[in-house]
Amino acid sequence: MEKGSFERLIEGQGEIKMSGKVWINGKFVDREKARIDIFSHSLQRGSNIFERIICYDIKGRTAVFRLDDHLDRFINSAGLIRMKLPYSKEELKEAVKETVNINNIKNPYIKMSAHYPNEEFDVAPPDDLVQVAIAAVDMLALLRKHKSTRVKPNLRVRVISQRKLHPDTAPVKAKVSANYLSAMLAKYEARDAGADEAIMLDREGNVAEASAENVFLIKDGVIATPGLDYILSGVTRKSVIEVAGDLGIRVEERRVRKEELYEADELFLTATSVKIWPVIQVDEKLINNGEVGEISRRLNNEFNKIISGESKKYDKWLTYTR
Ligand code: PMP
Repeated sequence: MEKGSFERLIEGQGEIKMSGKVWINGKFVDREKARIDIFSHSLQRGSNIFERIICYDIKGRTAVFRLDDHLDRFINSAGLIRMKLPYSKEELKEAVKETVNINNIKNPYIKMSAHYPNEEFDVAPPDDLVQVAIAAVDMLALLRKHKSTRVKPNLRVRVISQRKLHPDTAPVKAKVSANYLSAMLAKYEARDAGADEAIMLDREGNVAEASAENVFLIKDGVIATPGLDYILSGVTRKSVIEVAGDLGIRVEERRVRKEELYEADELFLTATSVKIWPVIQVDEKLINNGEVGEISRRLNNEFNKIISGESKKYDKWLTYTR
C-alpha cells in the first residue's frame, strides 16, 4: 500500500517536544517532575480515571473539540467509581484552557486524569485525596515517538475470542484504567493474528467495540452501530451519529450481529485520536474490495469541515482556549 502523507510525516524527522507543564491540583509542574508514588492506590489497583481530548488549530487559534462532553464523561467516570473530584466542571474547563495555553503547542492532545496518590493497603483507597492531572502534549510528536499504527489510513480488524467486559461486573461506561487491561489483551490477540485492531463481542455474541474505538457498519445505505449497553459512549460516535443525520443517512443504534460485519458494504471505527477510521478487512474478508467506501468518505469530509471551523452549526463543539 502506498504511504499517505500523514504516514510520511510521522516518519519524518523534526523536533519531538515531550516536555512542558502539567496542571496538578491547581499548580503547574514540569513534565519531568510529574511523578507518582509506585505504591499509590491508582497505580497498584488501577483506580485512575482519564480522558483524551483533541484540539484543532483553526486559523491560528486552538479549539478544544467537544470539551463539555469530555468533561461530562470524566465527571461521570468519577461518579461510577465513587471518586470525589475536588473540582467543578467549570474549574476543570478553565484548567484545561490554561494548560493548553501555557504549553503553546500547535496541535495539542490533552491527557487528563484523576487518581488516588496515597499508598494503598487495601482494595479501597486509603483516603479521599484525589489528584487531577492535566497535560497538553504534542500529538504528532507522540505518534512519531511511538511509531503508532493509529496513523494508518485504513485498517484490518480481527474479531477476537476475548469478550467485552460485562456491565454486571465492571463499570464499562467509566473511562477507568482497570478496564483497559481487557483492551490491552484484546489488542495483543488481534496483533498475534496479524491484524491492527480487535473487535470484541459482548456476552451474547453481538458486536461490542474495538479496544478503544466504537464500531460502525454500513449496509444498503443505512448505518448501524451497537447500542450503549456494553460500551463506552464515545464522543466521536455521538458526533458521527449527528452528522450522518444531517446528511440524511439513517443511523440505527441496535444490536449488531457478528455476521453483519462480514456482510457490510463499509465499516469504520471512531475515536478521538483517529476520528473516522476506515476498516478494509475483517478477519479474512475484504470490505468494499479493500477500498474506503463512499459514505465513509462523505462523513469524513463533513467531519473535517466541522473541525476546520467551517460549519456554523457545529461551532458549539469547539471551545477556543483564548
Ligand atoms: N471505546 C473505548 C473503550 C474507548 O476507550 C474509547 C476512547 N475514548 C472509545 C470507545 C472512543 O471514544 P471517543 O470517541 O470519545 O474517543
